[in-house]
Amino acid sequence: MFVYADNAATTAMSPVAIQTMERALESMYGNPSSLHQKGREANLAMIDARRAMAERLGAEERELYFTGCGTEADNWAIRSAARLGAEKGKRHLITTAIEHHAVLHTMAALEREGYEVTYLPVSPEGLVTAEQVAAAIREDTCLVSVMYANNEIGTIMPIPAIGKVCRERGVLFHTDAVQAAAHLPINVVEQDIDMLSLSGHKFHGPKGTGALYCRKGIRLAPFIEGGAQERGKRAGTEALPAILAMSAAFCEACDHMEENMARVTALRDKLIEGLRTIPKCRLNGHPTQRLPGNVSFCFEGIEGESLLLRLDMAGICASSGSACTSGSLDPSHVLLALGLPHEIAHGSLRLSLCEYNTEEEVDYMLQQVPQVVATLREMSPVWYKMTH
Ligand SMILES: *Cc1c(COP(=O)(O)O)cnc(C)c1O
Repeated sequence: MFVYADNAATTAMSPVAIQTMERALESMYGNPSSLHQKGREANLAMIDARRAMAERLGAEERELYFTGCGTEADNWAIRSAARLGAEKGKRHLITTAIEHHAVLHTMAALEREGYEVTYLPVSPEGLVTAEQVAAAIREDTCLVSVMYANNEIGTIMPIPAIGKVCRERGVLFHTDAVQAAAHLPINVVEQDIDMLSLSGHKFHGPKGTGALYCRKGIRLAPFIEGGAQERGKRAGTEALPAILAMSAAFCEACDHMEENMARVTALRDKLIEGLRTIPKCRLNGHPTQRLPGNVSFCFEGIEGESLLLRLDMAGICASSGSACTSGSLDPSHVLLALGLPHEIAHGSLRLSLCEYNTEEEVDYMLQQVPQVVATLREMSPVWYKMTH
């Protein structure tokens, strides 16, 4: 059996997105900036795609900027807020210890440029509170950036409460919603979100697409200099086929969100309940306030890497945390921030589901994972020491 359970790393494109992209590749070759009919046709399609996505976020068409990926949207939002903050003498930013590297490494770069960054610690379930944010805000704070939901452990942050605090204190609020967009209901107005990043390939759209929402009235610093694309702030001819496909995937997912959430949550809970019966395991993240598709465990006495290899041989595509850290031997910064000791954080497994997964696949994983964990433990000197 083959099971793709790494949807937090990336997703397969939906048939609708593929069809949209194929059609656009064939016929929508005009440059949206051109005045002739092929240009106008491309431009109108792009306006529709932008409006459709903006509407589903509770935003206006002019508030949504297309980018090349979620990482770019994060970089743009944070760098823009930092640059505009510095103009007013505000050089302090607030974020959390468990952000994606797209945020953390941008923050680190700003620190090297003379900015000050507060990294809020998280609870053992991976939560930060609005009170923590409120207590960290200073006179010179120019941005609060808190992820909507964590990519490794699935914890969903109290975004409306944090948004409210930031709005009351007059501080810009950005959220990396790459794991949440098209998976959880989002309304940027009701949730007091000033800036929001999303990525097409996390919701069955194509790789190389993303978007940044920036509330009207907030100045956004230009990110790429050149032509007048994206309201003159992100120059370069638009990747129209990919943009149209991202928008199609986004709309499809948003318009089926309730049923998808119910289906995927049921699969997730079945998987969690089954894996919980493995001795000496720990569910990472919040028990209920978590992404519908996220299952994250640590198993004592084994190495996550060996677990992944064995599961791969059994046809199961999983992850030990984030795709970005999978190449290195350091345990994930997210698991360490939860307070887990190194040796436990090393034995992590993330299975991330989507609406394409089936109950049969969950049953198969429930049969394979406990077996593989038991086999690895039989060979593990660490496990032997723990149990003798
Ligand atoms: C995947 C991911 C990103 C990066 O998005 P890309 O489009 O791959 O650049 C950023 N933040 C989170 C939370 C993610 O899961």
